[in-house]
Amino acid sequence: MTGALSIARDLVRCPSVTPLDAGALAILENLLKAAGFETHRVTFSEPGTADIDNLYARIGNGAPHLTFAGHTDVVPAGDDAAWTCGAFSGEVRDGFLYGRGAVDMKGGIACSVAAALQHLADHGGKPNDDGKGSISFLITGDEEDISVNGTVKLLQWAKARGEKFDHCVLGEPSTVETLGDCIKIGRRGSQSGTLYVEGVQGHVAYPHRAANPVPDISRLIVALSEEPLDHGSAQFQPSNLEFTSVDVGNSATNVIPAQARAKFNIRYNDLHTQESLRELVEARLVKAAGNRIKAHILWEPSNANVFVTKPGAFTDLAVAAIEEVTGRKPELSTSGGTSDARFISHYCPVIEFGLVGQTMHQIDERASLADMENLTRIYREILDRYFG
Ligand SMILES: [Zn+2]
Repeated sequence: MTGALSIARDLVRCPSVTPLDAGALAILENLLKAAGFETHRVTFSEPGTADIDNLYARIGNGAPHLTFAGHTDVVPAGDDAAWTCGAFSGEVRDGFLYGRGAVDMKGGIACSVAAALQHLADHGGKPNDDGKGSISFLITGDEEDISVNGTVKLLQWAKARGEKFDHCVLGEPSTVETLGDCIKIGRRGSQSGTLYVEGVQGHVAYPHRAANPVPDISRLIVALSEEPLDHGSAQFQPSNLEFTSVDVGNSATNVIPAQARAKFNIRYNDLHTQESLRELVEARLVKAAGNRIKAHILWEPSNANVFVTKPGAFTDLAVAAIEEVTGRKPELSTSGGTSDARFISHYCPVIEFGLVGQTMHQIDERASLADMENLTRIYREILDRYFG
């Protein structure tokens, strides 16, 4: 039987810094193929970006279809000499597997593959004793960079082949402090924009001949920052608009600038859509600017829409599996940044549950072996309950 640790070590030893694969997908493909999965390696291209290799593997027929999603690419190691063990050595020390990707998220993938192989071995090589149901893996190679030749295209490719997913577990390091303390059931949307205020350039000694956009943009920043966008929803904290920079590009001390700009980002909850949010902010801008201040907003394109998997049978099943192994009832959370779950949510309900995220993207990224063992047990519990 192939354990999670040995799979994770093999994966960590592939220096698969985006966009490189470095043999990581082949390790998974070989393991899954040997267990009876039908595997597909799919490469996606886009002008101006590196080609990205992806893996889709499926076993079984029809519904219910549970898919595990993840990425084998990792962020760069940084200063290799600063690591306790080599960033790609896959060394085990004091109960931890060290290496870039150990937590984000080769460790999580290794646990899900190990759990699936064990589950299949217990059920005569099929997801379910009665022969119904499917398990699959959607493994991509460009999550840590621009995410254009990975999950989005792999999902489109799968749909075009007639693949239908009922539920997805994304093994990102969702846990905050202790394995099982949290499942992510959604993420806020992210929308950036720039506020422009037009003035009239002039000499500071003759302000009556100019119109200074600096005090005006200050007023608008205060107005837009102060009024809450909402007060939170059942699954989400309140949306938040945060200004991140203010610029006039003026190096002179005796010139009133012609224009002022301020960048902002909004993290928004499920009370808004991208469109309704933009309308709300623009309406508030019009009100705050009155007919004196000339201001407008340029919105940046965003594919980070808000999504939530509403608590129900599937989240209950995952909660029960986690409680069974850890004795802890996880919080259903929607906090934090965006992930590939935002793309998967267009196809099926998705939850994120994986290792403790504390050391991800850091020097000495490491995964606790005890956590890897328990995560594998949790994934097995999920599989048992899902197909049981
Ligand atoms: Zn990740």
